[in-house]
Amino acid sequence: MVTISDEVKTLLKDSGFQESDVLEVVNAAEASGNKLKKADGSACLAKNVTDNLTSYAVYNDSEVVNVYAHQMQAGEPIGGWDEAVESPLESEWICNKCGETAMNRNVNMSFMGMTRAGPAIVCEKCKDVYVEADMVKTLAVAESILGEKRA
Ligand SMILES: [Zn+2]
Repeated sequence: MVTISDEVKTLLKDSGFQESDVLEVVNAAEASGNKLKKADGSACLAKNVTDNLTSYAVYNDSEVVNVYAHQMQAGEPIGGWDEAVESPLESEWICNKCGETAMNRNVNMSFMGMTRAGPAIVCEKCKDVYVEADMVKTLAVAESILGEKRA
C-alpha cells in the first residue's frame, strides 16, 4: 500500500488536489499496468489525463514522492510516431506495459488552440506520452504566456 510522503502533502496544500486524487492515479496505474518505471526500479510514474489537465504521480513501493500537473495536451512526437529518429535518446524510464525503453522526444504540446514543441518521454510502441517533473516548470511558464496572449 502506497502512502503520501510529507513533501507531497505539503505540495498538495497549495494545489487543487486532494490526497485521494493522487492515490487514485497510483491505484489506477497499478491496476492497469499503464505506467513508466525507472530502469533501476527505484520509482514509477503514473498519469491521469482529463480534458484540461494531465496530472502525474511519482512513487516507489512505499510512498508517493512527487506530484505535478500541466494543462497543455501532450500530443504525438514532432514528425509523427513513425518518423525514424536518428540516434534516439533513451530515457531512464521503461514502459511497464510493453517493456520497451521510453525515449526522449519532442512532442506537440497544445494549449488554448496553440501548439508548440516540448520535451517528453514517450513509449513509441504504445504511443504513450509522459512529461517529467522538471519539464513541467517550462510548460507552466509557456501556459501562462500563451494564456496572456490569448486573454
Ligand atoms: Zn509501451
